[in-house]
Amino acid sequence: MIRVTIWNENFHERMAEFDEKFRPYQEKVLAVHPNGLHNTLADLVRELGDEVTIRTATLDMPDAGLPQEVLDDTDVLLWWGHMAHDQVPDEVVDRVQQAVLNGMGLIVLHSAHHSKVFKRLMGTTCDICWRDDTFERVFCVEPSHPIAQGLPRYFELDVEECYGERFDIPKPDDVVFMAWHDIGEVLRCGCTFTRGYGKIFYFQPGHETNRSYYNQNVRTIIKNAVKWAAPHCRRTVHGAPHIDVTLEELRLGKK
Ligand code: ZN
Repeated sequence: MIRVTIWNENFHERMAEFDEKFRPYQEKVLAVHPNGLHNTLADLVRELGDEVTIRTATLDMPDAGLPQEVLDDTDVLLWWGHMAHDQVPDEVVDRVQQAVLNGMGLIVLHSAHHSKVFKRLMGTTCDICWRDDTFERVFCVEPSHPIAQGLPRYFELDVEECYGERFDIPKPDDVVFMAWHDIGEVLRCGCTFTRGYGKIFYFQPGHETNRSYYNQNVRTIIKNAVKWAAPHCRRTVHGAPHIDVTLEELRLGKK
């Protein structure tokens, strides 16, 4: 059983509460994600059936929805954010980073490339070149990777926001997917990393007004990523493990 927590800043869904001028955009987002992006993603992950338990968490909840108890009860955390990265408290970022280092899986989606959590774990700016909606072709460039199982050589998204290179990330463990946009940009759009005991997957499609999370190939990728990122072992000791008897002492018969 994989315990999944889906975190969403939940800002686009409520932005008219902050300024009425945002109402048309909020309605556009809610037309695609009527119950919020977190619930769109929850419905997607729920297709894994008995393999998962799912909880959603949002920035407007106490502790940004991620108190230690929630992270202790999470095997894989999905993170969607865009407008409110700065409002995520640093204590929460510390906590998520530590949870990943101890083995929790992390799936970073779309504009969360600029989240504090991802930037902290990468150690780089995570900047990209940006253009508005374009046609996108996603190539599966590492077909033997677990996240690529069941995927065709490539698939297409009629409308998705264009992110282009250079994507300022450290060298990934694997580039599983590459994107080409019809305005001539390319991106390493599906990358894996390891930090401590934790596995991380970044995936670019998923702009708030687009329907990429309803695409069957995108759904397969995210479900595969949940299974891939689930920890096989976790580090439970805080700080460096203490060695009571060294191997050398044993060899010399001193202990
Ligand atoms: Zn976007």
